[in-house]
Amino acid sequence: MKLLFLGTGTSAGVPLIGCKCKVCLSKDPKDKRFRSSAILKIGKKNILIDAGPDIRMQFLAHGIQYINGVIITHTHYDHIFGLDELRPFTIYKNINIFAESHTMDGIKRVYSYIFDQTNIQVGGGLTQFTPNIIDPHEKFFVDGVEITPIRVMHGRLPILGYRIGSLAYLTDVKTLDESSIEKLQNIDTLVINCLRLKPHPTHLNLDEALKYIDIIKPKKSYFIHMDHELSHEDWESMLPDNVYTAYDGLEIVIC
Ligand SMILES: [Zn+2]
Ligand SMILES: [Zn+2]
Ligand SMILES: [Zn+2]
Repeated sequence: MKLLFLGTGTSAGVPLIGCKCKVCLSKDPKDKRFRSSAILKIGKKNILIDAGPDIRMQFLAHGIQYINGVIITHTHYDHIFGLDELRPFTIYKNINIFAESHTMDGIKRVYSYIFDQTNIQVGGGLTQFTPNIIDPHEKFFVDGVEITPIRVMHGRLPILGYRIGSLAYLTDVKTLDESSIEKLQNIDTLVINCLRLKPHPTHLNLDEALKYIDIIKPKKSYFIHMDHELSHEDWESMLPDNVYTAYDGLEIVIC
């Protein structure tokens, strides 16, 4: 199993439009962060986690030929506003989208022209999605791949992270309760958001992310969803052993 990081930036991406800070002007390709998204590669299957507004460029950059299913964490712009870019993959076959109920409602509102069956504009190249509602307390399968939902609190908003075997992918976390931490026992690889050094009301900062890593004790951790406060090099210089900052295009092998 492999995980390809398509994007590792926060909601506005890095560089931030109009910003002239050191990180936004950096020439290091690892300081160019598209909105956070990843592809889980299991055998020949590609399972997409989130589809933000950069997804077209991300697919083109990595020559993605097909997607077997999409799992969505929550409805914020940076996680779902690229879903319609999957249209070329749905010409011959519907793509299954998986999300919990309130998130699927949000997706259907945003993409009412796709999901509203009474829509007068039938055909004409609409993206063909099949919605699948996740029960947050039950495992589910995407093309035969078993996935466990993990409840994540994004400030006051309940959203989902996902565990697939020994990998967990959690984004936009502010807090995790005991039952979620319980479901994260014995993982090898934890992907978790870490926005910056300063605290933030709805995202983990460095101290908070390290605190959860200390509790969960994965063998390796990778940070995603970073803003422009620190460069990739800055991050790498301050992280403890076995904690890394992911960067766009990084592909890791998961045991
Ligand atoms: Zn986000
Ligand atoms: Zn900046
Ligand atoms: Zn969010």
